[in-house]
Amino acid sequence: MSTPTDGTAMVSITDSRKAKPRESPFIWVTWLADLMAGARCQWRYWFLTHNQLKEKANEFDDPTFQIRHSRLVTELEQELRDQGLNPEIEYEVRVPLDKRGAELKGSIDCLTDDETSQIATVWECKTVEKKQKHALQTWLYMYLLTKRARFRDKGIRGMVVYPRERLPHRSIPDDFPSQVDFFEQLLVADRPPRKVPGSDCRFCPISLVDCPERQEHSDHDALDEDDGGER
Ligand code: SF4
Repeated sequence: MSTPTDGTAMVSITDSRKAKPRESPFIWVTWLADLMAGARCQWRYWFLTHNQLKEKANEFDDPTFQIRHSRLVTELEQELRDQGLNPEIEYEVRVPLDKRGAELKGSIDCLTDDETSQIATVWECKTVEKKQKHALQTWLYMYLLTKRARFRDKGIRGMVVYPRERLPHRSIPDDFPSQVDFFEQLLVADRPPRKVPGSDCRFCPISLVDCPERQEHSDHDALDEDDGGER
């Protein structure tokens, strides 16, 4: 079999590794939380919203994070059951964003819906050091629950659960819905936001195939359990 000398084979191999455009925009709550918390490279989340990766740059598969997180959730679940509650683990929330089929999706670590007090609580478990985006993520889940008929007339609370501390959130800020809307629009827009290669590239799942500006050798930083799984 002859080998093409004009680079055709090379181009087709690269193309086959490139991300596939999504039929409609899709946003994970964790992406939105990162963006709202001030992510430097906004392009990363915009690109993931519009494309499904075929090749990931860095698999974040350190099982110790998963084990610790799984234990924290399980201990919480047992505690809540002991209190007579019925915790729902990995409660999925999906919210349509527009008529084009754009969708926002998240998975709440643990949800309780107390029929006696008529209060639903979002329990977000984190095994890493405290970060602002953990509260943001919890607010996002609380906000998304208000859009579901099941929770519309209930009180909605949030609790970020760390191994040795719990941070309650009794309400979301008044301007939060308009802030969410602003950043959702940034992600679903056709026009890409800023791309900022730098130290954060090493935690980004977008490979050189889709982001030629990627910087592979950057400074170390603390990993977060949410830094894996984006596709
Ligand atoms: S690799 Fe770097 S520059 Fe490219 S999208 Fe990811 S964070 Fe942005």
